[in-house]
Amino acid sequence: KPNPEDDSNFLEDESTKIFARKVADHYSARTNQTLEEREASPIIHLKKLNNWIKSVLIQLYARRGDAVLDLACGKGGDLIKWDKAKIGYYVGIDIAEGSIEDCRTRYNGDADHHQRRKKFTFPARLICGDCYEVRLDKVLADDAPFDICSCQFALHYSWSTEAHANVIIKKLREAEGLFFGNSVYWIRFDEEFSEKKFRSSSPFGIKYKFHLEDAVDCPEWIVPFHVFKSLVEEYDMELVFVKNSHEFVHEYMKKPDYVELMRRLGALGDGNQDQSTLSQDEWEVAYLYLSFVLRKRGQPERT
Ligand code: SAM
Repeated sequence: KPNPEDDSNFLEDESTKIFARKVADHYSARTNQTLEEREASPIIHLKKLNNWIKSVLIQLYARRGDAVLDLACGKGGDLIKWDKAKIGYYVGIDIAEGSIEDCRTRYNGDADHHQRRKKFTFPARLICGDCYEVRLDKVLADDAPFDICSCQFALHYSWSTEAHANVIIKKLREAEGLFFGNSVYWIRFDEEFSEKKFRSSSPFGIKYKFHLEDAVDCPEWIVPFHVFKSLVEEYDMELVFVKNSHEFVHEYMKKPDYVELMRRLGALGDGNQDQSTLSQDEWEVAYLYLSFVLRKRGQPERT
């Protein structure tokens, strides 16, 4: 007799797959824009601001020779930034077939309409797959270890179900008490530990649809930051940097090098008539984003 619980798990998994497919199809269908089309985008300054933030982060934390894993790498828009940081190896993974194809084209240096440039100096491996589903430890066994794992503008796609974030917490929720296991293993939680973190309503699967003009039209999931933080701690990592995009701009626009980079990228005008700048509405969108950096405990500081 089918177990209704299995049934609901099945449905949950199926719907998760359906949503992942929606996300993949959405990004796959986004064709490369010409330079003119890009400049005409209603969110061009926001795109430039986001590129500036990613460039600053990469300059702050990447080191020459680093092996980089880029989760949800998209069309490879960050390849140039990693190249400038002189990394030694790059692995990019993305669920959208079209995006990985574009990424490959860009890496190979053909038809890069944004800039004509020499080939990248680092070897790269590009993989099409769901980076929250595939066993990265197996798929990347020959590439590991990595010095940096980057995930830009995509963490919210990982939060659709508890299973994708932490199987143990999922099991704890399904358990009668604070204990679960089978004939070969068991796990028990302290009263206090479980009460505090997991007994409230589920922090996973809080779905919304995000529409961003000329960029995104997808289901996404809230990532309650305190839950994310506790998961990170369980994996022996610590949060070493957290800044909302507004804060990020205020802090790093005090540094001449980054002001110069911003000027080159053209995101924030300096008040000159011929230099346009972010609209109020784009600035409001920037406020939705959070940059953060995690470090494996015991690793040396990088900044
Ligand atoms: N990181 C790139 C960047 O900053 O330009 C792309 C960001 S784009 C907003 C989000 C990307 O996440 C898309 O390329 C999408 O295909 C990818 N994505 C979403 N869910 C994913 C998943 N489960 N596995 C791998 N990639 C995923």
